[in-house]
Amino acid sequence: MAGLVLARVCGVPFVLMHPAPCFRMPNMSMSRLSALSGFQTLFIGPGQCMFPPPVVLPPCTSVQSVSPPAESTTSTSIYRVIGPKVSFCSKCGGPTEHCIPDGEERLRAICKSCGIVHYQNPKMVVGCVVAHEDKVLLCRRSIEPSYGLWTLPAGYLELGESAAEGAVRETWEEAIAAVDIEAPFALLDIPRIGLSYILFRAKLRTLDFSPGIESLDCALFHIDDIPFDQVAFSSVTVALQLYVEDYKAGRFKVHHGVLDKRMGSSPSDPSGYTFRDHISN
Ligand SMILES: [Zn+2]
Repeated sequence: MAGLVLARVCGVPFVLMHPAPCFRMPNMSMSRLSALSGFQTLFIGPGQCMFPPPVVLPPCTSVQSVSPPAESTTSTSIYRVIGPKVSFCSKCGGPTEHCIPDGEERLRAICKSCGIVHYQNPKMVVGCVVAHEDKVLLCRRSIEPSYGLWTLPAGYLELGESAAEGAVRETWEEAIAAVDIEAPFALLDIPRIGLSYILFRAKLRTLDFSPGIESLDCALFHIDDIPFDQVAFSSVTVALQLYVEDYKAGRFKVHHGVLDKRMGSSPSDPSGYTFRDHISN
């Protein structure tokens, strides 16, 4: 029985055939080739043959450790975000090696046993700027980081919910406040730490609110009395500044911008970031 399988290794297409003159793939087991190709099943005959003549596997440039440059700001830099190092495979438990696969420009953790590539992607934080008349609702954190500082009700988006649903849920969890979403307000990217904030403007349904388990306190602050020197995160500082500006201008906009965190700065450091590429309508 003859067979033909198209395979892909590190972005390079392969053709595997059987039966055919046999050429052994150097330094590569077929199970690993199969895993790297992304195909679950490869049609491989006795002797693990391949034809046409041997294709040299593209090198996977091994890089065991990489330190980011002090002030890398280019959006394409592979050093821009170094996520938590993945040392073991989440599928089979095998050890990983850190390589830049051919055709890519980013460091990836690849399982030495099953070949799975462990992609690491940014997380989304969703939350609300909850307004009541000329006040906004803030929560005082009962957890680290930034214990004791004030923040907007916000948290990680969960699987299975929309950004707006997550923002409403986080507001309930942190401030036991029922709100109605009014409009999108700000998308703030923090590429250096792999976070994007999606914030909505929302209204309180009632004035009933109280601290959730992650909050020491909740309170409505007049827009002229926001405690900017006690804000938990630079993203929240930027969002509140934009909100106050819009409120005083009499028109709320939708904003997007990028926060570049300074290496080593704390989450709440008022001078630990720059805000760039701000656009709004
Ligand atoms: Zn594995």
